[in-house]
Amino acid sequence: MGYDKVEIPPEGKSVTVLDEDADEFDVPETPIIPILYGDGIGTDVGPAAQSVLEAAAHATGRDVAWLRIYAGESAREKYDENLPADTVDAIREFRIGIKGPLTTPVGAGYRSLNVALRKRLDTYANVRPTYHLDGVPSPVSHPKKMDMVTFRENTEDVYAGIEWDHTDDDVERVREFIEDEMGYDDIIHDGPVGIGIKPITEFGTKRLVRKAIDYALERGRDTVTLVHKGNIMKFTEGQFRDWGYEVAEQEYGDEVITEDTLWEERDGDQPDNSVVVNDRIADNMLQQVLTRTENYDVLATMNLNGDYISDACGAQIGGLGIAPGANFGDALCLAEPVHGSAPKYAGQDKVNPTAMILSGVLLFEYMGWDDAASLARDAVEATIASKRVTYDLHRQIEGGEKLATSEFAAAVVENIETLS
Ligand code: NAP
Repeated sequence: MGYDKVEIPPEGKSVTVLDEDADEFDVPETPIIPILYGDGIGTDVGPAAQSVLEAAAHATGRDVAWLRIYAGESAREKYDENLPADTVDAIREFRIGIKGPLTTPVGAGYRSLNVALRKRLDTYANVRPTYHLDGVPSPVSHPKKMDMVTFRENTEDVYAGIEWDHTDDDVERVREFIEDEMGYDDIIHDGPVGIGIKPITEFGTKRLVRKAIDYALERGRDTVTLVHKGNIMKFTEGQFRDWGYEVAEQEYGDEVITEDTLWEERDGDQPDNSVVVNDRIADNMLQQVLTRTENYDVLATMNLNGDYISDACGAQIGGLGIAPGANFGDALCLAEPVHGSAPKYAGQDKVNPTAMILSGVLLFEYMGWDDAASLARDAVEATIASKRVTYDLHRQIEGGEKLATSEFAAAVVENIETLS
């Protein structure tokens, strides 16, 4: 393997997932899975998820060799750098991985390591399924109606990192360019200014929308909704919508139809095994996920909208302790929970590891380990349904038993043994 800055799995387990040039996965019985605990509560939820995923793998006749990789605080402590090249290379080589949260300082300090990792791995689709597990308290009356998957573009938009601080000399050059050369001379107020750029490309949009439509077709989902604020940001978000429709109309034949075609030509009669593509303006979408929840399946959107909308969806199914996610590139999957590093709870063995476990479930599904994935998910659901839960759910469940992170993981492992 030739890595210095990772923790190699024990002898006898070093089986690579696939050869570097292969397009398809050929998953061995004992694959190496790179795991990055991350910052803050990452060191609580990481080991907890590992024990559950390992138990589900064992119960279905398999094994996992974990390769510990480092970024953020753990990498600074061990190697005096934020993101060792070995971390990126290991995920790239093994084509799979699971990571916990990484802290991003607000305002000053280093740029987001999450964004850097996504860019360097080109994991362009951040996929966040939101579905309700039995027994999870919810602020809405019918949480089972929430069953959406958000495909969030992961590499561009205002997250691209093209921005200038108000103290930076370059910001004045950018201002002059915008005002003098581009003619926008009455828009930016005088005085200090921070400026950021929002690139939305045809390439970035189309590959994201394609991934969302492919997913919907494979999983028998009815709709893909393009979410945008194109009424205001016409040339970025509006163009995202137009390029999204181009993919739908030009690349899929009869399998994919637009909402206009559905109503104008078919009187609302959707053909079997087809996907309808429609679009909604982002602010409306934030209320639609609450008021017309059952009408939506798969959402495809840009980086910032996707971040907001998936958290709003996540709130309906139990909050950040529950919501899983994964970053996909071409033949690459890096699973990660939606939540952050919640520094105030770090190291307390307190928070909910469900989001990290269910992110591992997504990874198992990607590897074709559907039976192990279902087993882990069912065991989490059975544990929560028996009211044995961590603090976040305990405060909302009458008569529940409050468990530590590690105790909750142990209870899920027990349920894996019972269910298998
Ligand atoms: P956060 O870490 O997600 O925490 C916000 C709140 O969500 C927590 O105070 C807690 O709420 C709840 N929560 C989060 N994870 C939970 C869990 N596993 N179990 C139970 N409750 C959980 O968000 P933040 O405070 O905005 O961000 C902290 C840092 O994380 C920032 O540096 C941010 O940049 C980073 N971040 C990283 C990622 C990533 O690595 N992918 C994602 C988001 C944020 P209560 O206190 O109400 O119980």
